[in-house]
Amino acid sequence: MANRVTFQAMLGSLRRSLERVPEHRTGRNIQYEIVDGGLGAFSVFYVQSPSFLAHQRHMEQRQGRNNARSLFGVEAIPCDGQMRNLLDPVPPSHLRAPFWEIYGELETCGYLADYHGVGGALLCSLDGTGYFISQKIHCPNCTVHVREGETYYSHMVLAAVLVAPGYEHVIALEPEFIAPQDGHDKQDCEQQAIKRWVKRNAWRFAPWQVTILTDDLHSHQPLCELLLGHKLHFIMTCREESHQALYQEVGLLTRVEGAIETMTVRHWNGRYHELRTYRWVEQVPVRAGAKSLEVNWCEITIVRQDTGKQLYHNAWITSHELNEKTMPEVAEAGRAHWKVENENFNVLKNRGYHFEHSYGHGKQHLSTVLLTLLLLAFLFHTVLHLSCSQYQAIRQELGARRTFFDDLRALTRYLYFVSWDELLTFMCRRLELAPG
Ligand SMILES: [Zn+2]
Repeated sequence: MANRVTFQAMLGSLRRSLERVPEHRTGRNIQYEIVDGGLGAFSVFYVQSPSFLAHQRHMEQRQGRNNARSLFGVEAIPCDGQMRNLLDPVPPSHLRAPFWEIYGELETCGYLADYHGVGGALLCSLDGTGYFISQKIHCPNCTVHVREGETYYSHMVLAAVLVAPGYEHVIALEPEFIAPQDGHDKQDCEQQAIKRWVKRNAWRFAPWQVTILTDDLHSHQPLCELLLGHKLHFIMTCREESHQALYQEVGLLTRVEGAIETMTVRHWNGRYHELRTYRWVEQVPVRAGAKSLEVNWCEITIVRQDTGKQLYHNAWITSHELNEKTMPEVAEAGRAHWKVENENFNVLKNRGYHFEHSYGHGKQHLSTVLLTLLLLAFLFHTVLHLSCSQYQAIRQELGARRTFFDDLRALTRYLYFVSWDELLTFMCRRLELAPG
């Protein structure tokens, strides 16, 4: 492995993005820099402690130094209200660069080798999720729904993550927010967000070196054409209810001997044998009508060999060539799509990132800026897991991620560290770890 991707390098990338945010401070509000607001909010997500900055303010008063400055580069710590005023006017588009700079470093240093699936292409999962809903609190970027006479304000985000079959860690890429767009009357939706993401970011990847994974909501002709036009492969869930023409064709072909390829593979899962049956056909119309695009279709059915019980079934449409070699890889990749839900959204929602904390919702962009900083904190942690042997050793020794963050909170509250590396070295020494 050439180099490791360091915390300092990642933080530098975030800092440079914050320094490029155009000045919006006026009058009495110029005491604190936007950079301090951004890095301060980031530090709270990174340490997973809502009171991190309050503790560092106390340390500054007692010792004239603090960990917010030494670890995260926060020169002067703004209070929560000031933080809100600094960050609310900042469009989250200003924070896109760190995602791509870190992705570039990971790729260059060889850390993404496991994320290359079918045909050597990276697997990139795209999926939407809600991260805020209220009947009272709202901002101009809220999506508004009326249900049974009640008004709901919500925020949704289209997350983009690199996934690898059989691999726990997902790599967060730049997200796209689902929010009212300038010049459009209609409310925004996930289908529009995915198109914007593709148009904006496809150029970042070498031609045909990325496979986009989505659920059934997106597996229709317009997105297929957009992806192919941008030289991106796809593997998208294909349900019968939403692809009637395609399944009619598959049904007709089923009656023609040899038209549908079939293969069954026996697989030992550690406890019992599974029978994995693949069926596939190339060049079937994705929809009815003369101008239909032709796609490749496949499905997998897994049954337990001894009982005959069905364990899993799914079907996809794909741009990848299907044969006995690629078929299992395509199915593995398609199955890895759920990681965007399981390894990404669940971790963000339930694993202590303290989203929204006490900064509130804001009147402009606060909610989206905070989520972006939270995603970056999650990305930093993942990258350290991949590339930093000290971090790996400590996390492994401490077991539950909660223990690690409990310790991080306590250590940074009582002790001063000159740098993140010194903090990790301290933990390794006290735990008597010798990372390789
Ligand atoms: Zn809002």
